[in-house]
Amino acid sequence: MAFDYDLFVIGAGSGGVRASRLAAMAGAKVAVAEEYRAGGTCVVRGCIPKKYMVYASEFGRAIEHAKGYGWSVDTPTYDHNLFMDRMHREIDRLSGIYARNVRNAGVEIIEERAEFVDAHTLKLMTSGRTVTAQKILIATGGSPIMPKNVEGIDLAISSNEMFHLDAIPGHIVIVGGGYIAVEFAAIMNGLGARVCIVYRGETVLRGFDDDVRTHVHDELKRKGVKVITNASPTRIVKAGGKLSMALSNGESVTADKVLFAVGREPYTRGLGLDKAGVKVNDKGAVVVDDYSRASVPHIFAVGDVTDRLNLTPVAIREGQAFAQTEFMNMPTQFDHAGVPHAVFAQPPVGIVGLSEADARQKFGRVDIYKTRFRPMKDMLTGDEERVLMKVVVRAEDERVVGVHIVGPDAPEIIQAVAIAVKMGATKPDFDRTCALHPSIAEELVTLRDKFVPPELKPV
Ligand SMILES: Cc1cc2nc3c(=O)[nH]c(=O)nc-3n(C[C@H](O)[C@H](O)[C@H](O)COP(=O)(O)OP(=O)(O)OC[C@H]3O[C@@H](n4cnc5c(N)ncnc54)[C@H](O)[C@@H]3O)c2cc1C
Repeated sequence: MAFDYDLFVIGAGSGGVRASRLAAMAGAKVAVAEEYRAGGTCVVRGCIPKKYMVYASEFGRAIEHAKGYGWSVDTPTYDHNLFMDRMHREIDRLSGIYARNVRNAGVEIIEERAEFVDAHTLKLMTSGRTVTAQKILIATGGSPIMPKNVEGIDLAISSNEMFHLDAIPGHIVIVGGGYIAVEFAAIMNGLGARVCIVYRGETVLRGFDDDVRTHVHDELKRKGVKVITNASPTRIVKAGGKLSMALSNGESVTADKVLFAVGREPYTRGLGLDKAGVKVNDKGAVVVDDYSRASVPHIFAVGDVTDRLNLTPVAIREGQAFAQTEFMNMPTQFDHAGVPHAVFAQPPVGIVGLSEADARQKFGRVDIYKTRFRPMKDMLTGDEERVLMKVVVRAEDERVVGVHIVGPDAPEIIQAVAIAVKMGATKPDFDRTCALHPSIAEELVTLRDKFVPPELKPV
């Protein structure tokens, strides 16, 4: 049977763009359908605009700090419309570059939603056209979860709307304790909003190392974010221009905006996966093997829709591995171990490898090296912010299996450390490396003493 395309990709986000470009450059006839904007979540409503908002939110504190160094600054003001206008112009530019690069590689971009009709056929939902393809790649990403069991949920917003606020709210309540909730809490706090986090657990950032969680939780509170723990919302009502949210612990909070950042789910709703026979798990994620092959041999999935490790560089690498395997005669699996990641809070977090708890569970005996200190720069600013550095070492062979940093430039530092960790560096390798002085990162190579829990210290 002759197909319209060798490869049809659903979704022009991080994974879909990389896969479609490489497949087309290898000579395949490729089309990619995109229902919203080329570039996907990362470029349009994720990493990139989020990082611009992080930058915007940091200047207030930097101006305060400058006073400690002798600068005098008149009352600084922030123009939200000006910033948003500039940020969106940059996003438009980037989205345009993505679309252009895809076209230049010979890929046809179809600006419509695509849904499965059967295992080789897709319907394009605006034109009503159907197309067939020999191979299909599902790269539809994820979408924010808005829990339907909260009465009045329609009054709340998701991370998508955070990039289109007309003004910084006087008071915002953020429901959730994951990285997106924590990042927006820091952003809104830095831009002058009163911020309250409502979290159903005890400490934010579930899944991260416990020391990192406590450090970030305490820093949020120290910077003035109110954190209500062990509570979840039950009802939201509008009253006198404000939103009032009732909580499971009997409290209620009132705010101008309520943001739900309680997680994301694979975006497979309405895609017609059942018509193609593609299996999903209980969260709706497409089930794939190590080569991103779904339960139907000619259908594949990469990125957030597979719910493996939901990060942009991972989606890109999975897309690349798929194209290499299927169109470049180079069978490639992406290795999901040792992927560095960040939380762009204030101070930011950078992490690679395992948490202490996960390492103990996996390896039994581990050694911990850690330090907390005030960075040199803050000695003159009076800021009480602390840096945390923690290195998790497998006792058996002294291999470094986890590095966790909370502090200025932590994401930048961790990207470089990730190379050493991926290469299998040991603690003696770290020790042999000479310090770069004066820097925050030098602490990583000068950690000499194993951490001994206070209860085990000799008296
Ligand atoms: C607020 C926020 C902050 C984030 N920050 C970071 C960060 O700092 N670092 C990081 O690494 N990751 C971050 N992420 C995660 C990152 O954005 C995702 O991991 C990444 O975008 C996943 O890429 P993807 O290709 O799987 O999907 P996406 O980039 O989501 O692309 C999927 C595309 O498919 C399109 N689509 C969906 N269904 C259809 C259909 N049926 N037909 C046609 N088109 C369709 C969508 O419109 C979308 O453009 C963040 C995410 C959010 C929400």
